[in-house]
Amino acid sequence: MHLKQQQLDDLAAEIVEKNISKELAQQATQLVMGDGNADANMVFIGEAPGKSEDEQGKPFVGAAGRFLNEMLEAAQLKRSDVYITNIVKYRPPNNRDPLPEEKRVFWPYLMRQLEIIDPAVVITLGRHSGAAFIPDLVISRDHGRARTVQYHSHEFMVIPLYHPAAALYNGGMRQVLIDDFLAACELARLQERS
Ligand code: URA
Repeated sequence: MHLKQQQLDDLAAEIVEKNISKELAQQATQLVMGDGNADANMVFIGEAPGKSEDEQGKPFVGAAGRFLNEMLEAAQLKRSDVYITNIVKYRPPNNRDPLPEEKRVFWPYLMRQLEIIDPAVVITLGRHSGAAFIPDLVISRDHGRARTVQYHSHEFMVIPLYHPAAALYNGGMRQVLIDDFLAACELARLQERS
């Protein structure tokens, strides 16, 4: 198996072994670590798994995921070209928002995931995921704008986008998200070349 994928699998095993976020783990079907290419240039980060994700063990496989897949297709990308994950790796009961404490305990694991994959661009999906990287984020103002974020010795280019679920039924926001998405993919391609 590819070394980076092996490292991600080891990290997932560590989350389970250390019983990280015990309460969520007890109620969830399984850990939803991530999906896609461990060598990807772009990593998409949502907030937490929902019902379908909890059942299938993969992020963004429900309605929001179908829209994400559509946008990837529009950018001529497959899920296997990118890596997709969430801040919190277990489904919160009844799809409630993850608690600050739940985000806090998963944060070091997300950082280790990013250090392993080492992407050129991190694309956050939704206000909560974006704010975890950019504390002063105002999503209506900052969506689609790249920022450099420093974490320990690592530097990431972060592009905050609206959450696909929020844009799903709102025509205007849907188009904004599609436009931001295509621009973000283009920026990631340019980063790859430079
Ligand atoms: N919403 C998220 O934030 N993550 C998923 O994996 C699915 C829906």
